[in-house]
Amino acid sequence: MEGNWQHPHRRWNPLRQSWVMVSPHRTQRPWQGEVAQKTTPSAIHYDPACYLCPGNQRAGGAANPKYDSTFTFVNDYAALLPDQPEQHELSASPLLIAEPARGICRVVCFHPDHSLTLARMTQPEIRRVVDAWTSEYEGLGTIDWIEYVQIFENRGAMMGASNPHPHGQIWSTGFVPDEPAAETIAQCEHLAKSGGCLLCDYVAEEQAAGERTVLENDHFAVLVPWWAVWPFEVLLVSKRHVGAMPELSNEERDALADALKRLTTRYDNLFETSFPYTMGFHQAPTDGAQHPEWHFHAHFYPPLLRSATVRKFMVGFEMLDMPQRDITPESAAERLRGCTEEHFWPRA
Ligand SMILES: [Zn+2]
Ligand SMILES: [Zn+2]
Ligand SMILES: [Zn+2]
Repeated sequence: MEGNWQHPHRRWNPLRQSWVMVSPHRTQRPWQGEVAQKTTPSAIHYDPACYLCPGNQRAGGAANPKYDSTFTFVNDYAALLPDQPEQHELSASPLLIAEPARGICRVVCFHPDHSLTLARMTQPEIRRVVDAWTSEYEGLGTIDWIEYVQIFENRGAMMGASNPHPHGQIWSTGFVPDEPAAETIAQCEHLAKSGGCLLCDYVAEEQAAGERTVLENDHFAVLVPWWAVWPFEVLLVSKRHVGAMPELSNEERDALADALKRLTTRYDNLFETSFPYTMGFHQAPTDGAQHPEWHFHAHFYPPLLRSATVRKFMVGFEMLDMPQRDITPESAAERLRGCTEEHFWPRA
């Protein structure tokens, strides 16, 4: 990748069917913009004011049980609701289209300890979160009108997380949202054209190349994708062709927990901070159709650019035209490969 790719170029994202612009020569420019507050990890194991800690009362009035593992409940401030009005107004204009959107939004507490993050949880503790995600995907996915189950985590205030307690969200919807819908089209087209799976073929290419791989275990590959937009964006992909979490074997679920722990630890160690990100799993829609094209994976989108306090902004050309990045995916992968898997802030 040395040579040509040190010049400005654009790369194709076959999974999203879109381009990203890469400008490696810009990494030396001076920074005089915003410097965010460095986050130090919390040392409070129980916060009486936290609405996610065990035994506490939530704003909606319900009380959390004194849970000692994971705990899942319906979001008190859900963006979508399961019920819809009997009739909805139809617009007379073909340009002013609306339709009812139903959904079920749930919250998953990863651990009772308020101070922890995935990175600082043990692999068996993360495995319990994997099991909770799996049963939520299964349970929500079998509801006849739910067509997609989006499991995600917003980590850190920089990503808008309102509470540091280790938790994620699940928004399940009566429609397939735009990103997974675009990936469905891309994977279908690849299957129709080549007879193979897009991500199976892609992982094989990445394993042969090696330069964008961050880590791997027997069942998962973790890499900075060729088309990464965010500086340290990562794609986590199962090595076996599976469409969704329930298809993962016991051993593969352990391996997923292992990959999550090792990746999030490297992330934290990169700038010695509790590394913010939005992460989420993309899996087969639960719309009742067969989805042989779908390959289970997770995206990690972290905003940090060059230190614990300097973040990337998606503004200007990126809002108006297309995403752009400075450091190459290859050098980002190299930086992450250089981090240790011993967390800089060990648990007492
Ligand atoms: Zn808490
Ligand atoms: Zn595949
Ligand atoms: Zn995806």
